Amino acid sequence: MTYRVLDIIRGTTVDGPGFRTAIYFAGCRHACPGCHNPGSWDFNAGQEMTLEEIMEIVREEDFDVTLSGGDPLYHPEEIAELARCIQASGHKVWLYTGFTIEEIMASERLSLPLPYLDAIVDGPFMEALRDPDLRFRGSSNQRIIDCRSMTGGGHTPLS
Ligand code: SF4
Repeated sequence: MTYRVLDIIRGTTVDGPGFRTAIYFAGCRHACPGCHNPGSWDFNAGQEMTLEEIMEIVREEDFDVTLSGGDPLYHPEEIAELARCIQASGHKVWLYTGFTIEEIMASERLSLPLPYLDAIVDGPFMEALRDPDLRFRGSSNQRIIDCRSMTGGGHTPLS
C-alpha cells in the first residue's frame, strides 16, 4: 500500500494535543477560498511512501499522530489501514478533513477510518469565520469531534 506524502513534521504541537507526528497527504478538491496551502491540492505532489516507511517514522518518533493534507479522506481505504496500524502501535490518531462529520457518517467509504481515530477536525476552511485564537482549527465552523464517543450514530464536538 502506498501514499503520496507532502511532508512529515516530527514533534509538532499545533495539530492536536501534545507533541505529535503530523503527516500531510497530497490531494484535495474542496478548493476552500483562503486555503493555507493550495499546493497541497495536487494529488501528484510530494513523494510516494509505503505504509511500512510511514510506520517506521511513527514508531521512531513515538508520538501520537495527526493525519492532514490536503485532505486524507480522498483515500479512505489507505488511511483506514494506516490509522489501524498507528492505533495498533499504541498511538492516538487525529484526522483533519474538509468533509463534515455528517458527510462522513453518511458515506460508507468516508467512514472507513472512523474506528481507528480518536478525533476528527471537520469541515472546510471558511475565510469569513477565520479565527486565529481557535485552538487546532482555522475557522469556527470546524469542529473537533471525539470519535471514541461515536456509538449508535452520535457524535460529540469537543469544541
Ligand atoms: S480542505 Fe484544507 S487543504 Fe483542502 S482546500 Fe480546504 S483548507 Fe485547503
